[in-house]
Amino acid sequence: MTEVLLCKYGELILKGANRSYFEGLLMKELKARVRRAGNFDIYKAQSTIYVEPQDESCDLDAALDAASHVFGIVTIDRACVAEKNLESILAAAKEYLPQFMQGVRSFKADARRADKTFPLTSPELAAEIGAALLEVMPRLKVDLFNPDIVVRVEIRERGAYIHAGQFKGAGGMPLGSSGRGLLLLSGGIDSPVAGFMMAKRGVTLEALHFESYPYTSERAREKVLELARILCEYCTRIKVHVISLTHIQEELRDKCDEDYFTLLLRRYMMVLAERVARRNKCGALITGESLAQVASQTMRAISVTDAVVNMPVFRPCIGLDKEEIVATARKIGTFETSILPYEDCCTVFTPRHPRTRPELERVIAEENKLDFAALCDEAMETLNTYDITL
Ligand code: ATP
Ligand code: MG
Repeated sequence: MTEVLLCKYGELILKGANRSYFEGLLMKELKARVRRAGNFDIYKAQSTIYVEPQDESCDLDAALDAASHVFGIVTIDRACVAEKNLESILAAAKEYLPQFMQGVRSFKADARRADKTFPLTSPELAAEIGAALLEVMPRLKVDLFNPDIVVRVEIRERGAYIHAGQFKGAGGMPLGSSGRGLLLLSGGIDSPVAGFMMAKRGVTLEALHFESYPYTSERAREKVLELARILCEYCTRIKVHVISLTHIQEELRDKCDEDYFTLLLRRYMMVLAERVARRNKCGALITGESLAQVASQTMRAISVTDAVVNMPVFRPCIGLDKEEIVATARKIGTFETSILPYEDCCTVFTPRHPRTRPELERVIAEENKLDFAALCDEAMETLNTYDITL
């Protein structure tokens, strides 16, 4: 019995004239990932992508896992294929479906015909499947309204596909369909989640990490590279740029009012990030800020940091509670790495009384005590880039 995957997409269907562009990106990503699981034929027809094994060495579990990390795919059906006649369909349903129905008490059979030349109507075909399953599993009950499981046969161009429900896909928009964004990636919980959320909307990620060696350690940097590696489960490839803020932080410590350290540092970060973004053709910055989470994330503080940037700053976590961010971090697998207790450059020289309602003029006055542009130029010289891939 041949098993295949049917990958279905949602929002993309609404894309009208641009749809083939989105489908192209999705197919490219899916093919690149599924290739690792063996020799599969991957093609699309009728708003469905078919993933069909070509030889014995194909690992369908691995292909399913790969497909479930591709943005743009909403559901994945693992199905067996039968010839398009009633006898073959019923025989396949009886052989294939029971393995998915252990411990199930009620079911509903459903049929769909993309190929309308099939002689039975969908309700007739569904009734036949239901009756056939009751023959092999007589204890099962049919429940049309609240079944434990829905089994389905889909009559399509090349065959009849029989499956027992859907696996959830990653959803969102295909990677690359929304341009490139530069993620400010700390070692914390929030920024990897922010990166994931924007990647899910089709943004190809690049990342920038600030360190403050020797106040921050080699291990802190390793941790951030590891977070990027985990994000590659969905993003495939992320270039991680690392810039040292050591000198800027020492200058701030020596010459500026302590209460403004964090705000000033964040303005340096934003300007450096914008420079890196422009150099690498990224159209937006992405941060993990969440309103009111810490002193530098009040509305006033955010407007002080934003005032220094001239490109959009996406903050997808802005309206999320910590719990919600943590739930996503667990789902995407970054949480355990994020909580490893290594220092971050934001946690060295932290002010005892950070300003939560800063005045921009006052911040700029503090900032003017240093040569902002020269310190940024110098920091750019410390840039190192790591190419992280799946
Ligand atoms: P996170 O959990 O993402 O570290 P946070 O709640 O600790 O966030 P902050 O430390 O104020 O908040 O940082 C806010 C945002 O600024 C981060 O989400 C991240 O996008 C960026 N950021 C902070 N520190 C760094 C860093 N060392 N390198 C790159 N970006 C950083
Ligand atoms: Mg942090």
